[in-house]
Amino acid sequence: MGLPGSGKTTQALKLTEKHKLCMVKTGSILRELSSKDDALGREISKAMLSGDLVDNEVVAKLVKKQVEHLDCEGGFVMDGYPRSIEQLEYFDPEYEIVFYLHVSDKTVHERLKKRGRVDDTPELIEHRLRVQKGENKFLLDYFKKIGILVDIDGEMSEERVFEQIEEHII
Ligand code: AMP
Repeated sequence: MGLPGSGKTTQALKLTEKHKLCMVKTGSILRELSSKDDALGREISKAMLSGDLVDNEVVAKLVKKQVEHLDCEGGFVMDGYPRSIEQLEYFDPEYEIVFYLHVSDKTVHERLKKRGRVDDTPELIEHRLRVQKGENKFLLDYFKKIGILVDIDGEMSEERVFEQIEEHII
């Protein structure tokens, strides 16, 4: 977990490669579907282009389908799910561990400016930050309560962040 630009995808890819795991990235699944010219594609596209979260039930169903069809006995790394407590109520993948990559708003803006994705305009970044910070709080409290949350300083270099994550991987 982490705000946009916190390094979620970068670190998830590193973990996936090193430990030969499967990776499930909700942003990519949704982006692919959003390019389709049907009702679902238009609904997803509308939410993504306005920086809002895609409907909880829609996302939960897509993620459940992916996880259940992944032929990956070694396990999987999830990037971008859940983004709200309600999503967990629709589908809970029962994580062993959750990493939260902590970064400042300033870092988010700097990193996303460099990345330059279509939803990385200053206005949309601000909006996504507001949306996600609100939801994150409840999720972080929950993962902390069940004892699986690891807080990582996402301001460090890519390599240092990965080292810290690795310390928690058995
Ligand atoms: P990301 O690539 O993780 O930054 O996600 C990009 C966009 O995809 C977000 O701004 C949301 O619109 C959408 N999205 C990604 N993950 C989720 C999720 N779990 N629930 C709802 N919307 C999501």
